[in-house]
Amino acid sequence: MNKRIVILGAGESGTGAAVLAQSKGFEVFVSDASSMKPRYKAMLDTRRIGWEEGGHTESEILSANEIIKSPGIPNTTPLMEKVIERHIPVISEIEFAGRYTSSVMICITGSNGKTTTANWIYHILKQAGLDVGLAGNVGNSLALQVAETPHAWYVVELSSFQLDNMYDFRAHIAILLNITPDHLDRYDHKMQNYVDSKFRIIRNQTQEDAFIFRNDDPIISKEIANYPPVATRYPFAETFREGVKGYVKNKQLIIDTINGLFIMEQDLLALTGTHNLYNSLASGIAAKIADIHNENIRASLSDFTGVEHRLEKVARVRGVDYVNDSKATNVNSCWYALKSINTPVALILGGTDKGNDYTEIEELVKQKARALIFLGVDNIALHNFFDGKVSCIEDARSMEEAVSKAYRLAEKGDTVLLSPCCASFDLFKNYEDRGNQFKTCVRNL
Ligand code: ADP
Repeated sequence: MNKRIVILGAGESGTGAAVLAQSKGFEVFVSDASSMKPRYKAMLDTRRIGWEEGGHTESEILSANEIIKSPGIPNTTPLMEKVIERHIPVISEIEFAGRYTSSVMICITGSNGKTTTANWIYHILKQAGLDVGLAGNVGNSLALQVAETPHAWYVVELSSFQLDNMYDFRAHIAILLNITPDHLDRYDHKMQNYVDSKFRIIRNQTQEDAFIFRNDDPIISKEIANYPPVATRYPFAETFREGVKGYVKNKQLIIDTINGLFIMEQDLLALTGTHNLYNSLASGIAAKIADIHNENIRASLSDFTGVEHRLEKVARVRGVDYVNDSKATNVNSCWYALKSINTPVALILGGTDKGNDYTEIEELVKQKARALIFLGVDNIALHNFFDGKVSCIEDARSMEEAVSKAYRLAEKGDTVLLSPCCASFDLFKNYEDRGNQFKTCVRNL
């Protein structure tokens, strides 16, 4: 009898996994609790792959030999509890795709900066002429690429949820950018569980592989002793310290790998801010290990255009800059946004609070915020924390209201920053929708 693979969640990764599984001769069934996008239904229909939406038929699912689960589904749903009780193996799409490719895998994880760094490395490799695919949160899933448009190299963005269901996958070049609290609701509210998940990126690495990590990140530098890497270590930090392989000295970016040295003026980097310095160090080290020529690395580190919704400059209106950082869905990314802006700020924040502790941004807010605009259905947690600390605080229930209040409150030379610290699902479809609405409202000013 054919091995039966069931896929839970029919988004980009689930549909890609279904296509790959079918091409490998498995019996495949796809099940999604909500409604599926027409594009994915069509992809499955053309290949005669069975699917259901709007609910899960237990008999179809519990008869699986193996389940490929979307990273969005927690283990605590009634269905997942039954799956676990029956000891049906559950893997992620990346784990599955990894079984069918021997291409070089450059994998990036961290609490913040994954998408930016993945895109930046992809840009460097692509510009240098390598046959490379980008997978993770953007573009086509790894599984679909492995099935239909295979590449010699892949740059893969890995969330902790994907890592949780990865077991035998091997990253040839693994990157751990930073670890700050996020998604703790999915980790029993235990930081250690989240840290363990992030360090899964170095599982199965061998001595031939490389592990690039931020050495001046307090959590990583402490925890690394508990996860001694087998691979060659490439620690990076903002400034030189013993053993680091990437750092800045006298305004020069310096990278030192087995393939030699790479040096570049910091001023030429395409993206500004300390967080992007880290992202460029990680990208430069990975590119150097991939043996890309220095002139190609230099060109791509300086002409990268960044990724939408990440500290994206939208417009200058009457002397006020408007910056869209809608992807800042946790407090740490807002901290870096505030740090990178040198003018007074009208900060728009709020949304679905994941149990945030705003202490981390308190000092920067006091220093820089001319005004705070809380954009959300429920702003109580924000009021409890910030009331009395900033003189001007207003509420908004729509993006239009938030932007018009910011327009009124900001003065010439200020920056209006959307960097919400929160998820977007109370008022918006997702962070892209939130960022796009912000941009539209700004352009209509
Ligand atoms: P991720 O894919 O990990 O969510 P993104 O590249 O999409 O990361 O960026 C998410 C948010 O974090 C943005 O607001 C961005 O400006 C900020 N950010 C980017 N790189 C870093 C970093 N290295 N450290 C902290 N924040 C970062």
